[in-house]
Amino acid sequence: MHYLNEMLHNRKLQNILQYVSKNIPYYDNIINSDCINNSTFDELYNVFLEIPITNKTIIRNDYKRFTNYKLSNLKIDNSFESIDYNGQESVIKLADKMLIAEYTSGSDGIPFMVIKSFEERIKLGMNLWKLRNTFHPASSEKMLYFIHKPKFINYPVTFFRNENNTTSVCDEIDFIDGSQYTWWHTCTRLLDAYMNIISKNEIECTFENLRVIENNAAFLSDKNRKKYEMFYGCKVANNYGCREIWNIAFDCREQYLHINEEVLFFELIDDNDSVITEPNKYGKIVLTSYYLKEMPFIRYAIGDSACYLDGTCKCGRNTRRIKLQGERNIIIGSNGLNGDEYFTNVVYGVTFSEGINFDSILVTQIGHKKFLVNIKGNHNNKSIIEQSFTQLADEYIPISDCEYLFTYNNEFEQKSIFQARIESA
Ligand SMILES: [Zn+2]
Repeated sequence: MHYLNEMLHNRKLQNILQYVSKNIPYYDNIINSDCINNSTFDELYNVFLEIPITNKTIIRNDYKRFTNYKLSNLKIDNSFESIDYNGQESVIKLADKMLIAEYTSGSDGIPFMVIKSFEERIKLGMNLWKLRNTFHPASSEKMLYFIHKPKFINYPVTFFRNENNTTSVCDEIDFIDGSQYTWWHTCTRLLDAYMNIISKNEIECTFENLRVIENNAAFLSDKNRKKYEMFYGCKVANNYGCREIWNIAFDCREQYLHINEEVLFFELIDDNDSVITEPNKYGKIVLTSYYLKEMPFIRYAIGDSACYLDGTCKCGRNTRRIKLQGERNIIIGSNGLNGDEYFTNVVYGVTFSEGINFDSILVTQIGHKKFLVNIKGNHNNKSIIEQSFTQLADEYIPISDCEYLFTYNNEFEQKSIFQARIESA
């Protein structure tokens, strides 16, 4: 296997498979725990390959069989009401421990609850800080979170309640331009929103102390990385991860994504569900977390595709490197047009030409000429927004006769402006 440290993975894989075979209803018939004990990596790997690949839909439809037995007794469905819900995370209080429920949603906008213990989050969090520090010195007091902290109660301004409201964004820019933050944890959509307002209003800002922008969970093209590095005058580090498992791969100093082999077992799978080991061949990403036990993820397809890179990295690390497939950002059937770029212009056009405020817009391509446009945060001027959007999209997008369907769902989770819907797994 390409660069895989089998000794290291054998022990960790053995542990988690043993755990799920005894504690997770879905796996007790599937994994024979006797076959796992004292097995060599090859023996273990053969058992592993027989485990069915799962995805968000499979788990969501059979939720209780994928969480541990104790949690299965909780009324998970009702816990949405019974806990402090701040939009992204909430606390579940049990007699003997506290758990955190994290929420994510796919392109369908239906929330998916992921449960972790405090200990699990600390373990994953420490691992992430270690990775950050291999890229550039990082510390929590110098880190500005644009995302994952929805209420920003510790900051004097409200971040991104409404990213198209020029006045509030100018307040934010003013605040962080003079701040001591060296590292921003953000995503491409918010970087574009800042760039747009700074350029349009000719705001003078230097972000003098800024050293690293960490792109979180949105696809980052080489072209966009260069654009942000030029504009903000710092390095952009790619943190590829998901809410379910947290970090999956992190940029090294040479800006290549190295798989986070310490916390997970990483696979690429082709259309026939066979494992890909050779470089430069794209397949879907399938993950097994070593440490998540409250709600384990075993051979979990997260809906992204990647390929392994060939050769060794100049950074000196010998963990495997991947290149993500950016097809979610490419308009299907357009010969490679970047949907993020085109629809960013449309979205900002709507703001400026009509002076309409909304929180954000997510465009999902659901057919060759069919786009679903979800608008968050404005339910008053529907007809004006829809008319303006359609008109500008017809003007900017060089594909004729496109159809735009509008929805108003505030629960949509959004990292980029455009996504082509890829059916997961
Ligand atoms: Zn490297």
